[in-house]
Amino acid sequence: MEFDLIARLRRRAATRTDVVLGIGDDCALLAPPAGMQLAVTADTLNAGVHFPLETAAADIGWKALAVNLSDLAAMGAAPAWCTLSLCLPQADVDFVDAFADGFLALAGQHAVALVGGDTTRGPLSIAVTAHGLVAPGQALRRDGAQAGDDLWVSGTLGDAAAALAHGMRPPAGAQMPAEAATWLRTRLDRPTPRVALGHALVGVAHACIDLSDGLLADLGHLCRASAVAARVEVDALPASAALQALGLQADLRRRWQAAGGDDYELCFTAPPDRRAAVQAAGRAAAVPVTRVGCIVSGAGVQARTATGAVWAPAAPGFVHFTPAG
Ligand code: ADP
Ligand code: MG
Repeated sequence: MEFDLIARLRRRAATRTDVVLGIGDDCALLAPPAGMQLAVTADTLNAGVHFPLETAAADIGWKALAVNLSDLAAMGAAPAWCTLSLCLPQADVDFVDAFADGFLALAGQHAVALVGGDTTRGPLSIAVTAHGLVAPGQALRRDGAQAGDDLWVSGTLGDAAAALAHGMRPPAGAQMPAEAATWLRTRLDRPTPRVALGHALVGVAHACIDLSDGLLADLGHLCRASAVAARVEVDALPASAALQALGLQADLRRRWQAAGGDDYELCFTAPPDRRAAVQAAGRAAAVPVTRVGCIVSGAGVQARTATGAVWAPAAPGFVHFTPAG
């Protein structure tokens, strides 16, 4: 039965000229271009932990690859290949077909070839490894931020946290048009890896990280790696029209935007004399970029409101999905 599932994936997986041997043998054989470095990343999604149990199979497939491509984007690497280790409660052909719809749709958008994997039985869990290519010395690392840099984020923050916190239900008293609710839910289920932006920031940004656990938590990693501190203007964080339409109380909005999770946007630093270049990278990638603070010497991340008051969330990071309650 497992072989039938693998055959279904194999039939549908696209290939690339640099895949010498794809799904079907003991290993895939890949031919990286001479002189390029391989960027390799792995992320696992566990049912009920990294996505709500009722998530559609196609969305699970999309997200399993998206979170990995987001890591490649954060390094400025061009995605090339991936492997997929599927652990399934039963050999469910319909689930695998729908899962592949989402997974392969995103793979197609980025010309990523699925070149192998593993299929086993157990609680639903999806482990993906993604490989990308980057020129030597060009990768966007976490450890390059410098005091004096501007702090930037891509896209909008807090959408997935809003969808997760309230499911499809608006907070009490808030008007949430069905369209906005659907949009927020799509941000949770189908994050957009900022691959083109990461690529465009090579040679512009000093440091970069993707946002999976919330801005303050992930920015903390970047600051530690770079031995610098950050100041975040928490009321300058970009909010989507759908999030704004919720008319949230300021503290809740700040919490979702600064300490929610699952944004899969890029957070990066660049010197102030590269502001025009950063804006040009955003335009080239068709992703809005917003300046949200600065890097200073010292340690730690400090968030401040529009009035200059220091602000801290009740909980510093997002602790994955917890079943409703
Ligand atoms: P082996 O026992 O040699 O690991 P498998 O039966 O696990 O072989 O896999 C057979 C082939 O199918 C291998 O090329 C493997 O990479 C590929 N494969 C298995 N599961 C998946 C999957 N979920 N997605 C893509 N390729 C897979
Ligand atoms: Mg195997």
